[in-house]
Amino acid sequence: MTQVRTRFSPSPTGALHLGGAHTALFNWLYARHFGGVFILRIEDTDRERSQEKFVEEIQESLRWLGLNWDEGPYRQSQRLDIYHEYVKRLLDSGHAYCCDCDPEDLETRRQAALAKGEKPRYNRRCRERGLAPGPGTAVRFKTPETGTTHWQDRIKGHIAFDNQELDDLVIMRADGIPTYNLAVVVDDITMRVTHIIRGDDHISNTPRQILIYQAYGVDPPEFAHMPLMLGKDRTKLSKRHGALPVLAYREQGILPQSLNNFLARLGWSRGDQEIFSMAELIEYFDLDHVGKSPGVFDQEKLLWLNSHYIKVTPPRELAALLTPFLAAIGVENPDPDYVARIVPTLNKRSKTLVEMADAARFYFLDPRPYDEKAAKKFLTPASVPLLRETAARLSALQELSEESLTDLLKDICADKGCKLVDLAQPVRVALTGKSASPSLTELIPILGKEECLRRLNNAINSVAES
Ligand code: GLU
Repeated sequence: MTQVRTRFSPSPTGALHLGGAHTALFNWLYARHFGGVFILRIEDTDRERSQEKFVEEIQESLRWLGLNWDEGPYRQSQRLDIYHEYVKRLLDSGHAYCCDCDPEDLETRRQAALAKGEKPRYNRRCRERGLAPGPGTAVRFKTPETGTTHWQDRIKGHIAFDNQELDDLVIMRADGIPTYNLAVVVDDITMRVTHIIRGDDHISNTPRQILIYQAYGVDPPEFAHMPLMLGKDRTKLSKRHGALPVLAYREQGILPQSLNNFLARLGWSRGDQEIFSMAELIEYFDLDHVGKSPGVFDQEKLLWLNSHYIKVTPPRELAALLTPFLAAIGVENPDPDYVARIVPTLNKRSKTLVEMADAARFYFLDPRPYDEKAAKKFLTPASVPLLRETAARLSALQELSEESLTDLLKDICADKGCKLVDLAQPVRVALTGKSASPSLTELIPILGKEECLRRLNNAINSVAES
């Protein structure tokens, strides 16, 4: 069996969005599943719209997702000589011809056809003129005037187009820049791509590309056109639906694994399994289980997956991922051991790393100023004896453990005749500044005795001052 070779070939005219990441992931998984090669190719022949910063951003997004490429990034802008050679071959074999039609004139005809409600098409004026290449001449592909072009799409099934519909497309503009359909075929031939997995918005390009393969006498690769992702209202996915560039998810504290799992399940399934490790995705992914109907972007599901991965990622690993988010709230260079210790106290209630860093604030920074509502409700004169008692007993406690602290709190309640929440809430606000936090018996040993005593005293003083 020949080695599977797939490619992801974005145009650097914008950041990598979810749709692009979806395509990249499917190509990557298919290559990894078969032990094949995944190629990155930057389609940057459109010089006006391509930008270097997007080339960088696309690579950064793929790296963050862990979709490593084995070859590339190839850049079409650096392959013009190859395209010229391939265009010459088509001219020599009579599959292409030069065209000197005036672009303005062509545009006028195009507009006139559109105004009449007709499909604009080239009148093939130059098809048999035998013009030689030269300045001001474009090159057109000599599309057969009869017959059909068809293929067995790995996702969509059998697809056929009448060649009549296809027009004599320009394959090289007068300025020597190849058009998309030519460049992509030449690349896929020379890079020996075996499977083209891409969005179904490219279906109408495929018959044109197949004809070009045939003109070169090369068997086309397999095509698999993925349904485009939709928003919840089943319209084309956009910002309106909350869809963002890939790196914006990183900023929001989504783990790469959550996004990969989320994207993998859009359009592809394996029974009703929802959670897949990367290893499982590689093992199970195939094109036979990619559906024909579009997947729907559901933000809630992404957050649900993220909560899951936050919970199950080993604390040390999560600590490393959390650290940049701590920096964003002013905690620079925290001790990695300390961060790894706090993770298990926060990972059950955080949907994102941003939420987690916010909830972790009190572990690093003084809890004052207290949350206003919490302080008003719980740091009252009535709570002062309870805070004092807690401080006194804590200072006498030899060993801070969940058990010893549970007993300590229970004993105070028994002595003072109060309920546990009446004690726990003032202590919580004193230590964390908020009325919701990890359990006291978990957080007190991490903060340490000295720090807890300092915070309890600050809270007692704050009541006296108010
Ligand atoms: N550069 C094309 C795009 O960004 C991809 C073309 C292809 O996959 O054939 O849509």
